[in-house]
Amino acid sequence: MAGVIKYQGSIFSFPDDSSGNSSRSNLISTMKTSYSALDTFLTCPLKYKFSQIDRIKTPKSKEQVFGTLIHGTMKLIHTPGIISPTLEQALDFFSKNWNAEVFTDEIEERSAFSQGVSMIQDYYKKNDISKINIVDLESYFQIEVEEGEENHIVSGIIDRIDKTEDGYEIIDYKTAKKLPSQEKVDSDLQLSIYLSSFLRRYPKEAEHLDKIKVSLYYLKHGVKLSSERSLEQVKKSEELIVDLIGQIKQSKFEPKISGLCDWCGYQKICPMWKHKFREKDSEEIDIEKIIEEFVSTRSEVKSKSDRLGELQEIIGKYMDQKNVEQVFADAGSILRTLRKTYRYDAEKLREILEPLGKWEEILKVDGITLRKVSGVLPIEARREIDKAKTIDKESKSYIVKKG
Ligand code: SF4
Repeated sequence: MAGVIKYQGSIFSFPDDSSGNSSRSNLISTMKTSYSALDTFLTCPLKYKFSQIDRIKTPKSKEQVFGTLIHGTMKLIHTPGIISPTLEQALDFFSKNWNAEVFTDEIEERSAFSQGVSMIQDYYKKNDISKINIVDLESYFQIEVEEGEENHIVSGIIDRIDKTEDGYEIIDYKTAKKLPSQEKVDSDLQLSIYLSSFLRRYPKEAEHLDKIKVSLYYLKHGVKLSSERSLEQVKKSEELIVDLIGQIKQSKFEPKISGLCDWCGYQKICPMWKHKFREKDSEEIDIEKIIEEFVSTRSEVKSKSDRLGELQEIIGKYMDQKNVEQVFADAGSILRTLRKTYRYDAEKLREILEPLGKWEEILKVDGITLRKVSGVLPIEARREIDKAKTIDKESKSYIVKKG
C-alpha cells in the first residue's frame, strides 16, 4: 500500500559506496532521490541505473547546456532588484554565457543561438517583468516520503513561484519543442509534486487551492499552459511517488527504447545502442553480412507473402467462375474451405456456464483491447492496471529498420 508523505523530517541518503561498485546494494530501504531522477526512471529504468546507482557521468548534451542557460537567463530576468533587467541586459547575459563548443557545426550553433534570442525577446513582449511579484526563484525543496517502516527523501527545484492578485502561481519553464495537451498538463505529476512541496511550506494555502495555479511555460512557443489541482489530486500524486520508489526498488532496470534515446548520453554503454559504436575489425563473425542477408531475406519473405495473397485472390475468382471448391494441377491441388467465426450472447453463455463453474475459465483479458481502453483512463487507474500485470510468457522478436 502506498505510504504517506510527512510534512517534515530527517534526511536520509544512500550509504557511501566506497567500492565504486554498481550493485543493487545501493538500493537499500532508504533513498534520497530527486523528482528529475524519478522522471528519468519513468523515461528509461536503465538510464536511471546508469545515472543514479552506477553514478556514471556523461557530458552535458547541447540541449541540456541550452536549457541551463535559458533557465539562468530567466532567473536573472526575475531576480528582485530596484529595477528589473532590461531586454538588452538579458540578451547580454545570454550571449556572454553562450557556449558554442557543444554544437557540432556552425549552422546548428547559429540557429540555436537565434532561437534563444527569440525566446527571450518573445518573453519580454508577452510579460511585464516589473509587474511580476516573485516569491521565490529556483526554489529547492525536499519532501520526506514514508513507505511503511521506510523513509525516503525526494528533492526538486521549482523554477519560479509568483504571488498573484489573489493567490500564487507555480511555474516550470520548458524549452521542449513539443507542446503537451491541456489534459496532460492537468495530470502532470511534476506540477502536482511542486504544489505538494509548496503546501508544506505554506500549509494554510491548502484552503485556497482554487487560487493556486500550476503552469508550464513553453518558451519556444511563448505559451503558458496552466492548471489547478484539488487536494485529492495532490495526495494521489504523493502516493504515486511512493509507488514509483517501490517500483525502483523492485526494478530490473531494463532499457526502454524511445525517441528520447537520441538525447541519452549512455548510448555507448546501452545494450540497445552500443553495437553501433563497436570496433568493426575485432569481430569474430561477419555480422555486417549476416544482417544484410537477414534484412534482404525478410523483405523477400514479405514480398512473397504479398504475392501469395494476390495468387489466392486470382484462384478464388477462378473457383467462383467455374463453380468449384477444389482445383487441380500437376504441382498439386488447392481446396477451399469456409471458416466461420461466431459471436455469442454473453448473458446467455453466463447463465449456462456459471452454474457449471466454467464461466471464469472462458473469460480472458484481451491485452490489445485493454491497452486501448487504458490509454484514456486516469493515470492512477493506469498505474493500478500496471500493478495487476505479471509476465505470462516471454519471446524475442526481431524488428528490422532499413538503412
Ligand atoms: S539509450 Fe535509450 S534505452 Fe539506452 S539507456 Fe538511454 S534512454 Fe535507455
